[in-house]
Amino acid sequence: MTDTRHNMTLGHAGAPLSWPVHANALQVGGMTLPELAARVGRTPFYVYDRALLAQRIAALRAALPTSVELHYAVKANPMPALVGWMSGQVDGFDVASGGELQLVLDTGMPVRDISFAGPGKTEAELEQALMAGVLVNVESMREIRLLGELSRRYGRAARVAVRVNPDFELRSSGMRMGGGAKPFGIDAEAVPQALHEIRSRELDFEGFHIFWGSQNLDAAAVCEAQTKAFALAVRLSEHAPCAPRVLNLGGGFGIPYFPNDRPLDLAAVGAHLHELAATAAGELPSARLVIELGRYLVGEAGLYVCRVLDRKVSRGEVFLVTDGGMHHHLAASGNFGQVLRKNYPVLIGNRVQGEQGGTEVVSVVGPLCTPLDLLGDRMALPVAQDGDLVVVAQSGAYGLSASPTGFLGHPGPAEVLV
Ligand SMILES: *Cc1c(COP(=O)(O)O)cnc(C)c1O
Repeated sequence: MTDTRHNMTLGHAGAPLSWPVHANALQVGGMTLPELAARVGRTPFYVYDRALLAQRIAALRAALPTSVELHYAVKANPMPALVGWMSGQVDGFDVASGGELQLVLDTGMPVRDISFAGPGKTEAELEQALMAGVLVNVESMREIRLLGELSRRYGRAARVAVRVNPDFELRSSGMRMGGGAKPFGIDAEAVPQALHEIRSRELDFEGFHIFWGSQNLDAAAVCEAQTKAFALAVRLSEHAPCAPRVLNLGGGFGIPYFPNDRPLDLAAVGAHLHELAATAAGELPSARLVIELGRYLVGEAGLYVCRVLDRKVSRGEVFLVTDGGMHHHLAASGNFGQVLRKNYPVLIGNRVQGEQGGTEVVSVVGPLCTPLDLLGDRMALPVAQDGDLVVVAQSGAYGLSASPTGFLGHPGPAEVLV
């Protein structure tokens, strides 16, 4: 019985987070996976590991200038226990709905450090945000007008920052969230007009929020986007009612999912942010710099665990039918924004190595009557038996809350924080 570490992203450069292996079983939160499954009491479940979350936050703190605030974008993983724990680790939260706002208010995070972004905020949500005293990243003239009316009605000025749809596009991979025609934010060229409106409605202007993309693994592209976002903020500041007190540079840091993905070079991004922070101290001296990360903070610290119900052979191909699937983990099935379906890292958690290292090629499927319910397509895995535990790694972000749990009426998974 030897202890090793199972690197979920084997073949990647750098030092991605990894999970220990003991007696051929994954170790999670100080116990073997079968022990944890017994403690949870049922499968499927998601597990998130505080130690790995802390490790990721420590790595960020070491790389980033101390003057850059680290915010958590709650939509990546809104599990209440996780968000509660995060409230003691990060400098602020970004929420994307009135529901998420309630959740973070419960944690005791100071309202000064909570911001609310997202297109299509309802009047009720804007009212919630105003009365809570959080910063609203306004995304349209309508939101500015509504906040103006609400502020007048309640006799208190809403805190606002302008979310800018930048006039640059990300030049490389990743999910583009800004540039061109977008439903997010206010087009950079319309921002002077929006700032005029904010001034005339006597809203409390705090600064700018420039979010340009997501899931980017290319440090050079991230740095370039941050540089351009900063320059844009400097230009727009000339039209602002007062000097900006906050500049939110967005996030966009990606994590590796697939065999050829290389982890983001955090040292390079950190070094660049040191330069940017020095520039900012001269050019936007009153502005706090913020980055807001979702996936990068939590994605690698979570596993999805389900159980093999049936090992079937169909015309020579092996299928592991599990009690989990796309209804709990849409992203791993390839149906959450992927263009070409690729396998998430999958392993047999109680049988990390097969007998004498032997593997077989299997497809891991869920119990839904649709060919979309696929967690692993023809992967080489140790020979698994009914009752074995299938693990999908890199599952801490955009997992349960981004999945169609009502589809087919199976029970939902448990979620635990260890
Ligand atoms: C979704 C979102 C994030 C988080 O994106 P990640 O790619 O998970 O880091 C940050 N800010 C805003 C405004 C978002 O909508």
